[in-house]
Amino acid sequence: MKMASAAAAMAALMIFAGCTQRPGLYKDTRVIMGTYVTVTVSEEDIGPQKAVDAANAAFDEISRVDRLMSTYKPESQLSEVNRQAGIKPVKVDPELLDTVQDALDAAAATGGAFDPTVGPLVRAWKIGPEGGRIPATEEIEKARALVGYSQVAVDKSGGTVFIKKKGMSIDLGGIAKGYSADRAVEAMKARGARGGIVAVAGDLKLFGRKPGGGPWKVGIQHPREKDAMLASFNLTDAATSTSGDYERFFIKDGVRYHHIIDPKTGYPAKGLVSVTVLAHDSYVADSLSTGIFVMGPEKGRELAGRRRDIEVLMIDKDGKVFATGRFIKLGVKSPNLGQANPE
Ligand code: ADP
Ligand code: MG
Repeated sequence: MKMASAAAAMAALMIFAGCTQRPGLYKDTRVIMGTYVTVTVSEEDIGPQKAVDAANAAFDEISRVDRLMSTYKPESQLSEVNRQAGIKPVKVDPELLDTVQDALDAAAATGGAFDPTVGPLVRAWKIGPEGGRIPATEEIEKARALVGYSQVAVDKSGGTVFIKKKGMSIDLGGIAKGYSADRAVEAMKARGARGGIVAVAGDLKLFGRKPGGGPWKVGIQHPREKDAMLASFNLTDAATSTSGDYERFFIKDGVRYHHIIDPKTGYPAKGLVSVTVLAHDSYVADSLSTGIFVMGPEKGRELAGRRRDIEVLMIDKDGKVFATGRFIKLGVKSPNLGQANPE
């Protein structure tokens, strides 16, 4: 995955503003998967050395998932699946097989709003740290013809993944960060950690307690004010993911173009500026925050109402807030999106 913008890094770091420099916490940040990964471990009960070991195990686990699932590494198994598109099925690790299946399930659950084959469109827009460009209509149409998750076949018994159409590809960028956070937490627990947090950019997974026994605190980033939070709440043994139009974007002629693409239109998704999903598993929160962002306010609301396993906080382009479950209790006020909200 590519280098995330400074804004995305800020978002990840802000989340932990509340728990820095506390005694009894070990914390380290590294760049993996092209983004900032911050691991926090409570030293309580296990001592400082075991906390360091647990954090290292978490980072190792995230690097391992990246090696398996990155499309920026030609030697990854996923890159081989993409090279064999339209040619033949490729045998892959059960873990990659399951994650591709999870991505296809997220695609089905969101009516194709989340689509792991969206890569050609993402590449056409080239929205990264250097900005981006508006592709020509023909270019968008060409890319759209190479997007469609129904062209991916997972053969569970044979252990293979096959992309039926040449030129198509799978990009797990919308689910792999969450999945790696899930794995990293398991690795920390296996090393004896009793409480901690893994943050892979906007994807958080928390478990156990912080030193002194209290729950961890999570903040939700204001979509237009870098150093402001919309709300904060206590959470543990759960995951949150936020997808927003403020992480990677450029503005041209008063229109904001960002990195979450609607596979149906071929253009950046419209209607919402920020979606936070709370779920037990980080891979679910990750893929559904992207999916709901693309679905937009109305369809997003419907999905949020249907799914009992997630809670959702959405902010639309006018600053209106929609929330379910414990997010309602937070009483998040409509943020002022102000001048920095063109279009
Ligand atoms: P970030 O990567 O900034 O944390 P997300 O978790 O929301 O943001 O994931 C966005 C990434 O997912 C994009 O960079 C792109 O690779 C991929 N993506 C963009 N649009 C879609 C989509 N409709 N479905 C699935 N993945 C997408
Ligand atoms: Mg996501």
